[in-house]
Amino acid sequence: MAPAIFCKGVTKSYLTGTTSTPALQGVDLEVRCGELFMLVGPSGCGKTTLISVIAGILNHDQGECHIFEHDLATMNEGERTSYRGKTVGFVFQAYNLIPSLTATENVSIPLLLNGHPRKYAMQRSEELLFKVGLKDKINSLPNELSGGQQQRVAIARALVHDPKLIVCDEPTSALDHATGGEIMEIFRQEALTGNRTLVIVTHDSRIFQFADRIGLMDDGRITQVVNSPLELKLEKTAQK
Ligand code: ADP
Repeated sequence: MAPAIFCKGVTKSYLTGTTSTPALQGVDLEVRCGELFMLVGPSGCGKTTLISVIAGILNHDQGECHIFEHDLATMNEGERTSYRGKTVGFVFQAYNLIPSLTATENVSIPLLLNGHPRKYAMQRSEELLFKVGLKDKINSLPNELSGGQQQRVAIARALVHDPKLIVCDEPTSALDHATGGEIMEIFRQEALTGNRTLVIVTHDSRIFQFADRIGLMDDGRITQVVNSPLELKLEKTAQK
């Protein structure tokens, strides 16, 4: 079976005025379908840039990037927008909920953007909120919800259009340990039962245990991929 994500020699630099900042300097990565893959590494090593490329938010400069066998480099803007809207779900650290919309309305946004009728979008959004344990909060506004509940709404929004790929940037960093664990249980369940592929950027070592594999990034490259947090600890000890 072809991998969900296949990157080979991917580069990306940001141009600010005349200054070019290299963010990705030859990323090689394969992520299997149904895998929960975590990306870790020091701040500035390129993690957010890499998931933005994978999610079709940023264009890479060079190298190959195939997602579910679609070559991102050959997509035109329309195909890219459709890819982002249909294939990818996003979860960010800062939830990014619209303050004036209820939980259900927030969750419905990807469906409405994909042209589904409002009635269907609301029904499906409520189902997703039930699924993430927010049955009694469907009509609440974001400021009436705790951080953990807001992140659940954001997860429901990321899942509502049934995307095959979910990318998450630091989804648990604003949450306490117990709530972060609950959020990861939902992701774990989605990877297992939904046959979704999840790529999660984190520096929260408390959640490493939920990963199938962990990729270590440094200086714009993936330098190592390990199967368990234990290997990560062993590596660190060996390097000392
Ligand atoms: P990480 O997510 O690992 O912290 P990033 O992908 O955000 O790393 O950043 C990688 C590098 O690219 C850093 O040197 C950062 O300063 C630079 N960078 C990120 N975004 C931009 C931008 N919009 N413009 C210029 N440089 C950027």
